[in-house]
Amino acid sequence: MSIKIDSEFCTGCADCVSSCPYGGIEVIDDVAVITGECNLCGACVEICSVDAIILEREKYVEKVEKSLYKGVWVIAEHYKGEIHKVAYQLLGKGRDLADILGVTLSIVILGDKFDNILEEFGNYGADEVIYVSSPILRNYYSDLYVNILSELISEQKPEIILIGATPTGRDFAPRIAKRLNAGLTADCTGLDIDPETNNLLQTRPTFGGNIMATIRTPNSRPQMATVRPGIFTVTKEHKRKVKIKRIESQYKEKVSITKIVKTIEKQKISVNLEEADIIVAGGRGVGSKEGFDLIKELANVLGAEMGGSRVTVELNWLDQDRQVGQTGKTVSPKLYIACGISGAIQHLVGMQNSEIIVAINKDPNAPIFKVAHYGLVGDLLQIVPVITEELKKLKSKE
Ligand SMILES: Cc1cc2nc3c(=O)[nH]c(=O)nc-3n(C[C@H](O)[C@H](O)[C@H](O)COP(=O)(O)OP(=O)(O)OC[C@H]3O[C@@H](n4cnc5c(N)ncnc54)[C@H](O)[C@@H]3O)c2cc1C
Repeated sequence: MSIKIDSEFCTGCADCVSSCPYGGIEVIDDVAVITGECNLCGACVEICSVDAIILEREKYVEKVEKSLYKGVWVIAEHYKGEIHKVAYQLLGKGRDLADILGVTLSIVILGDKFDNILEEFGNYGADEVIYVSSPILRNYYSDLYVNILSELISEQKPEIILIGATPTGRDFAPRIAKRLNAGLTADCTGLDIDPETNNLLQTRPTFGGNIMATIRTPNSRPQMATVRPGIFTVTKEHKRKVKIKRIESQYKEKVSITKIVKTIEKQKISVNLEEADIIVAGGRGVGSKEGFDLIKELANVLGAEMGGSRVTVELNWLDQDRQVGQTGKTVSPKLYIACGISGAIQHLVGMQNSEIIVAINKDPNAPIFKVAHYGLVGDLLQIVPVITEELKKLKSKE
């Protein structure tokens, strides 16, 4: 891929200079010049009104006939006969995207013995279930998933594919994207459709979570995105009649380059924050490890799980599996009480989809109040015990 300036056309207007986030283009003697900082992102190409900037990528990107690609797919994964919950969450978002584009929403399942539940996906927004069935697909075989899905995608040409950013999804999604020369954006926290171009807008934290970048893959199809569990919510009220496309897979275990010899159950996790209905979370404002006793007491009264910011884990006030945020868990409980948490973007991406957020912070300008539905400005060391006591009183009256 290379970039060059056609000096005959360039007017030296410098629109390209301000469009470049990297300082990769300058105007010298009324002509744009590419600098060593350029990373070939193409932002300047789009802004140039006289087409004086040429990004040559034809050699590498096969031209695809985009009009042949239609429909939104959600790839479901499963374990021990149960569909992973992220698939239902992706159907919720997939429905929105399919409605905007006026296309079909399909869920794709590679598995065995799922016949009884296929109709149910209509309740979650699907129009169609593509069910590739084979006893071998009871388990996850990386290479078989990649082969089967790549073949299906090449044949049926969906324009958007949504995949859970689970260990399994993170394994097969990039391999398929590479094979099909498709664009893939990992760990998206937001998805939308560009009203002008109908391209998928894929938003995700970048630069250590300090910036939210919206990424498009306008030149390739399909547009693939992975999304962590807990980012989108399940909508179950659709009542659609699903069309079921059943495909008998010819793949056999011996075709795979791997063989599953033994499945080792991972150690039971002590906390399942992702499933919790209520989370009481503490931040640096809690002040000490002992201070977390207050958080724990409130959590106990509410029947809640305890969580916290990364700082509290680093300070050893809280166990690592209770960290909420970009490098911790993504949660979406009915109630999230943030005590002494400032609301850094890396924390917010992990909890901002909670149904109700209550923030307690002594700084009225703390960013957490921007996402909170209810805010209490004051010292948590005074406020939390009062709430706990009041809740105890209420409970004793029940
Ligand atoms: C790559 C990367 C990944 C990261 N991943 C995560 C992540 O997954 N999760 C995460 O949480 N962070 C993450 N961070 C760190 C993040 O940037 C913040 O540093 C962190 O979230 C801040 O934690 P905090 O809100 O507890 O502390 P602070 O930002 O120090 O905020 C403490 C808050 O407590 C308030 N306060 C103090 N005393 C009291 C009191 N007595 N009563 C009431 N309020 C009080 C203060 O006003 C302040 O708002 C990441 C950072 C990077 C660079």
